[in-house]
Amino acid sequence: MRIADKNVTRAVLERHGFTFKKSFGQNFLTDTNILQKIVDTAEIDQNVNVIEIGPGIGALTEFLAENAAEVMAFEIDDRLIPILADTLGRFDNVTVVNQDILKTDLQTQIKNFKNPDLPIKVVANLPYYITTPILMHLIESKIPFSEFVVMMQREVADRISAEPNTKAYGSLSIAVQYYMTAKVAFIVPRTVFVPAPNVDSAILKMTRLDAPAVAVQDEDFFFKVAKASFVHRRKTLWNNLTSHFGKTEEIKTKLEQALQTADIKPSIRGEALSIADFARLADSLKTVGLK
Ligand code: SAM
Repeated sequence: MRIADKNVTRAVLERHGFTFKKSFGQNFLTDTNILQKIVDTAEIDQNVNVIEIGPGIGALTEFLAENAAEVMAFEIDDRLIPILADTLGRFDNVTVVNQDILKTDLQTQIKNFKNPDLPIKVVANLPYYITTPILMHLIESKIPFSEFVVMMQREVADRISAEPNTKAYGSLSIAVQYYMTAKVAFIVPRTVFVPAPNVDSAILKMTRLDAPAVAVQDEDFFFKVAKASFVHRRKTLWNNLTSHFGKTEEIKTKLEQALQTADIKPSIRGEALSIADFARLADSLKTVGLK
């Protein structure tokens, strides 16, 4: 019997008198087929260390521990720590850290892996209220994670993996695809969780690129330009750029010049621009002195 079996989950929750905390995004998985599919998608084996965020009562952790070299799981809710000691006590390759992942110094933590030289993958059923901050925290930690295989709201997974000229494409797609390839592996119905969330979920597989997808002069400025181009999605790129940089004649002349250099029409919408287009645009804007 697995922790994720509905009867086992119910018994564990009852035994510990656990009540769900909505503010922590607690929706526990109770489907062993899906858990196996997550482990298969992440290609976890004895040569991989895993970081898990939010183990809950250990449903996914159990599958990870059986397959990976080692698992380090970060859980914010201290009420779950004794429960995890109960459900996962038999594993000697699992460490549960009672910390908010957003406040964790990951560079220091990963030194605690018994074999810190193994590739590290992040595998998790993420708390939905902070999916994007967690992903950005992990990406920006500069730890060379080889892969993220994480469950999130389907709508967010679609946005992250979106291609140009689609409704879902936006600054989040660019923020992630600058560093990683992103692909929806499979969809998970809301019915397999307790309690059931209001939306369906998706497993998103993100693989780190050897180098960023495009070369830019100034990363922060590149992300700023991408963000500004999507502020009013229905407006043209020109309107979004003038809203952001200003509408004086001097600025407009500089904008025209930069767009011409980047070979981008002012009348298109931000969603038509690829990451490479945004890189050219940001570099040209910087060259004409816009900030
Ligand atoms: N992995 C379990 C499963 O699949 O059944 C639970 C997943 S549940 C969607 C999210 C988990 O993340 C909860 O256990 C919650 O307490 C935890 N959590 C929420 N915010 C967190 C944070 N900032 N840092 C670490 N864990 C967090």
